[in-house]
Amino acid sequence: MKKVLLLTGVFLFVFGIACFTKEVTGLLIPIVGYYYFRGIPAEPDRMPDKFFGVYSHVPYVLIGAGLLFMIISLLLPKNGDETPIKWNFKLPKFKTWKKRRTVFQLVVLGLIAVHIILFTLGITSIKAICPAGLAIGAIKGTFGIAAVFWSFILIGTIFGGRFLCGWLCVFAPVQENADNILTATGNRSKAKKHLHPAFIYTAAFIFWGSVIFNIIMNINNLTFDIYSGTSNPIGNIWMFIAGLLTVIPLVMFFIFLWGSRFFCRNVCPIGGLLRIYSRFSFLKIKIDHDKCTDCSACSRNCQMNVNIDGYIKSGSASIKDGDCIVCGDCIDNCPKKALSFGIA
Ligand code: SF4
Ligand code: SF4
Repeated sequence: MKKVLLLTGVFLFVFGIACFTKEVTGLLIPIVGYYYFRGIPAEPDRMPDKFFGVYSHVPYVLIGAGLLFMIISLLLPKNGDETPIKWNFKLPKFKTWKKRRTVFQLVVLGLIAVHIILFTLGITSIKAICPAGLAIGAIKGTFGIAAVFWSFILIGTIFGGRFLCGWLCVFAPVQENADNILTATGNRSKAKKHLHPAFIYTAAFIFWGSVIFNIIMNINNLTFDIYSGTSNPIGNIWMFIAGLLTVIPLVMFFIFLWGSRFFCRNVCPIGGLLRIYSRFSFLKIKIDHDKCTDCSACSRNCQMNVNIDGYIKSGSASIKDGDCIVCGDCIDNCPKKALSFGIA
């Protein structure tokens, strides 16, 4: 009993403190939403007393309750006979990279959804971090949160390779699940069509060239404001969910014709740029040639169609390929555990 009270107290205390930040306050959306839908604006500085009275006290109530629980737990006498608590809850084990990636992608989608809700309710004025936000920032000469995010990605690729493409991109789970549906229905695409690299490099050149061009045009009056950028282009949470769901059939069609991750391999201007230098990144898939039996299971299961067999035959210590999105599928599918993430 002491432990339960103590843990509950600690949780309420920490959560209460976190609720002072606007973003975490979003977890109070049920309360905020109730007032919002009654026509009362949700921005704290525009809230009427009635709303503000409830809203602003929530963190204090949580912190107070947390402290109370902790104090009571400390005051409770130790009972030597107290039956130890048996927790039946077991954390799920995500043993494969595919499962870990799925969870990570769901968290990313969830965070985007929370951001859209917070933005719609007026709780945050941080704008979208999509590539369009960066491009429009360059056109206006005012950089905001999108520029910070994309600087982080461009520099981070030197360390973590195309981590963005494998784990972070909002379009990644759409493509992977479209592929999963095809596989589950017995229609797994055998196609591995690669358009000529000039295609993806042209897309990259048009996008990044226009960003650089606009930066140069505005070079004398560039400004930075973390709150500047485009409003959420997705509009609202339902469009976000519906948009992702309705695009799946179209993606399935292209995957069936051209193979998995056709967009990342052939079209994406972001991937086109990262492809150029991600092969020099520190994070790599390492090959243990002593364990490898040349079964090709890794190559067959690479969603980016990287020629892993070629790297193995050449005796390379790692996969140095611009198309590798460090997804980990090859590691999952190697029966000899000859592949692993490593620094090279
Ligand atoms: S080589 Fe491995 S980690 Fe890289 S894209 Fe292919 S399956 Fe994913
Ligand atoms: S799946 Fe493993 S054992 Fe088979 S070729 Fe690839 S690295 Fe070698």
